[in-house]
Amino acid sequence: MKTIGMLGGMSWQSTVLYYQEINEGIKEKLGALHSAEIILNSVDFDRIERLQREGDWGATSDILKKAAKSVELAGADFLIICTNTMHIVAPEITTYLTIPVLHIADATGEKLVKDGISSVGLLGTNFTMEKSFYKGRLFEQFNIRTLIPSSEERVELHRIIYEELCLGVVKESSQEYYLEVIEKLQAAGAEGIILGCTEIGMLVSKKDTTVRLYDTTKIHAERAVNFALEF
Ligand code: GLU
Repeated sequence: MKTIGMLGGMSWQSTVLYYQEINEGIKEKLGALHSAEIILNSVDFDRIERLQREGDWGATSDILKKAAKSVELAGADFLIICTNTMHIVAPEITTYLTIPVLHIADATGEKLVKDGISSVGLLGTNFTMEKSFYKGRLFEQFNIRTLIPSSEERVELHRIIYEELCLGVVKESSQEYYLEVIEKLQAAGAEGIILGCTEIGMLVSKKDTTVRLYDTTKIHAERAVNFALEF
């Protein structure tokens, strides 16, 4: 089994979910008392969030490159960056390391292709919904077209992530809001919805809607488990 490197803390609420998903995945595949071999570097999200707001992606990249390198030096065989948003700096981190980085959008794109989906709705932070690092990658690598909510909706979806989910707050009114937006995207032609922020799974899941949901935390964790067990 390969040792999984994790860059977490963005936020720690979803790092917990990753940790659980990965260990459950290993237990399911290997059975008994097996658990994942993991090296986790969990950063202070307050610092990262401030730099995101200031648009100082260079500084976030410096922090995450250093954190990722420590995971590599500690013996990880590959790395997962446990957030969609911070994949903005995934290219820099990937170049800085010698071990492979499993990109969250690639894991998601592979799943969508397997399900025959070519048009998908994307929910996440404003950075993920608006910038091209995610949508562009889905289009270029997988030929998948992405639909995003209106600008007004994006503001509220983003607010709920930072002011509630990243703090561990799960409100029914926010769940209803997310479900409304999901249905609108489906009506606009989305064949499935990417929960493109690693905390959204705390709020909505398959049991809440008939729309096909792609939870990036679960998908990324599953990809890491499979990669850890491939020899
Ligand atoms: N975990 C979130 C994501 O998947 C948002 C927090 C962050 O900005 O990293 O995008």
